Amino acid sequence: MAKIQMKTPLVEMDGDEMTRIIWQQIKDILLNPYIDLKTEYYDLGLEHRNETNDQVTIDSANATKKYGVAVKCATITPNAARMTEYNLKEMWKSPNGTIRAILDGTVFRTPIIVKGIPPYVRNWTKPISIARHAYGDIYKATEMKVGADCKAELVVTDKNGNETRALIHDFKTAGIIQGVHNLEKSIEGFARSCFNYALDMKMDLWFSSKDTISKTYDHRFKDIFAEIFENEYKEKFEEAGIEYFYTLIDDAVARVIRSEGGFIWACKNYDGDVMSDMVSTAYGSLAMMTSVLVSPDGIYEYEAAHGTVQRHYYNHLKGLPTSTNSVATIFAWTGALRKRGELDGIDELIEFADKLEKACIDTIESGVMTKDLYLISTLENKTQVNTVEFLEAIASRL
Ligand code: NAP
Ligand code: MG
Repeated sequence: MAKIQMKTPLVEMDGDEMTRIIWQQIKDILLNPYIDLKTEYYDLGLEHRNETNDQVTIDSANATKKYGVAVKCATITPNAARMTEYNLKEMWKSPNGTIRAILDGTVFRTPIIVKGIPPYVRNWTKPISIARHAYGDIYKATEMKVGADCKAELVVTDKNGNETRALIHDFKTAGIIQGVHNLEKSIEGFARSCFNYALDMKMDLWFSSKDTISKTYDHRFKDIFAEIFENEYKEKFEEAGIEYFYTLIDDAVARVIRSEGGFIWACKNYDGDVMSDMVSTAYGSLAMMTSVLVSPDGIYEYEAAHGTVQRHYYNHLKGLPTSTNSVATIFAWTGALRKRGELDGIDELIEFADKLEKACIDTIESGVMTKDLYLISTLENKTQVNTVEFLEAIASRL
């Protein structure tokens, strides 16, 4: 059989620990036999980031800007323990943070649904994608404690020194204050990423905030979404047969729980932080959650939502068997290959991505699965397999 040919390289960002092991196995067992893989390889493993003073992370993000599609393995975000373990020159920043800052994107997280792993919310038969705005609000806040008999004000000074003031509170007794901000440009980018992704996935888009209480701040988010939708996306949404609607965050929460899923829920930074953990937990397993960073100008970086699965890696190093679920990492590859196929007009590549995803789902639904799913699956005939056996079971179906 002739291998599928690619035109433009994928930006390949290798990573750390157990996911680095799986990364190679996925290529060997599931991809290389069928595709003449064309990638521009960047080693984001912590050792190489340290050697290059993290330049490799910046280079990989710039390459993604150039080619348009990347696939990323999970990477270690260093902490004090990692400084010693890897003898690091510096506590390098989170690669995901660095890449997000360069691509200016929004992260979409979507669960992979399989029979036998029922969500805790029983009517959720379709996936819910959470889109979290990743700039500003309380994540860039300035906070202060305020003593008794103090007046706190907001003061904005323009370039000519003119001040605009607003009273926050006249404190008779002690209290606390917080100053937060956001940028129109960032909110616009967030909105466009969400509209583009909804068109891409052919799913409705919901956006929620608290504009009834926050009449200027949250209201500005609501208005920016509405303006961009009216001017740039309304017709495209009609053609695609999908909807955009805005609702209050508390109404959204109630509707989400009652829904059958099958939509994208765009959230402000804090709401997205909290709701994405709730939604992903309710779908059952972190190992079945995909993640894609979409920039406002349509650049895509695919990855798994989980980390490097350190505990399994240490067992692997000791020669002990591991049962690590590779599905989210495989879906990062299929997402990237499908997108490359769409952009370059390679139908075989799109079909391959569809078939590989189906092979993963069929494998699990036939009862062959890794330990994380084995523990929660409701199937009667189920078998727990190790990391490589699972990939081989997928390969035999593929
Ligand atoms: P983790 O790698 O997501 O793993 C946490 C636990 O979740 C594992 O110990 C395992 O549970 C389970 N798990 C996660 N993925 C699994 C999979 N594919 N198959 C089976 N079980 C899975 O999180 P962590 O251990 O807190 O973090 C490890 C490293 O990953 C850290 O250095 C962190 O910086 C990094 N990280 C990177 C990213 C990223 O690159 N996007 C995201 C998060 C964390 P059991 O041990 O009970 O089997
Ligand atoms: Mg969080």
